[in-house]
Amino acid sequence: MTVEKYRRSGVLTFNDLKRNGLIPSYSRLQKRPVVLIECIENIPCNPCAYACPRGAIKIEGALINKPRVDFEVCNGCGICITKCPGLAIFVIDFNYTKTHVSIAMPYEFIPRPQPDAKVLCLDRNGNKVCYGRVVKLLDSQRFNRCAVVTVAVPKRFWKDVRHIRLI
Ligand code: SF4
Ligand code: SF4
Repeated sequence: MTVEKYRRSGVLTFNDLKRNGLIPSYSRLQKRPVVLIECIENIPCNPCAYACPRGAIKIEGALINKPRVDFEVCNGCGICITKCPGLAIFVIDFNYTKTHVSIAMPYEFIPRPQPDAKVLCLDRNGNKVCYGRVVKLLDSQRFNRCAVVTVAVPKRFWKDVRHIRLI
C-alpha cells in the first residue's frame, strides 16, 4: 500500500511500520519479548514515553514527533500497552513455543476473553487471519478499563494478528 493509500484507508501496513523503524530486527525478535509500537502519525501524544520504566520509548523534540523505540533496551514487560490511548502498542514473544508466537494486545471489550479460550484472530483491517488461544489475561482497575490479552498464534502470522474476537 502506498503512503497515499494509507492516508485514505487509515490502516497501517507492516511496510509502513518497517519504513518508520518500528519493527525490530529478526535477531532481536529471537532474543526475548519486545514491544511493537504501531504509531506513525504526527499526533500530540506521549504517554508511551512516560510509561516505560526503562526509557526504551522516546519522543524527541516536539510533542507531535513519532515515538522511537530502542529495542535493545526494551525487555517486553508490557507496561506501556494499557497507557496508549490509541491502542497501538503490542508485545511479541517470538519464541513462545517452537511453533507459536504470543502477542500481548490491548482489549477494551466486555466480556474479557478468559485464559485457554479459543478466539478468532484479526488483522489491522478486522479481517480474519487464523484461530488462536488466549494464554494470559491481565485486568486491573489501574489499567483504566483496558485489559491486556495475550494470545498464541502460529508463527507465520506474527506480522498480521492485532486483535481478537470471541467465538
Ligand atoms: S514493553 Fe516494557 S520495556 Fe518495552 S517499551 Fe514497553 S514499557 Fe518499555
Ligand atoms: S501513547 Fe500511543 S498513540 Fe500516543 S504517541 Fe505513544 S504509541 Fe502513539
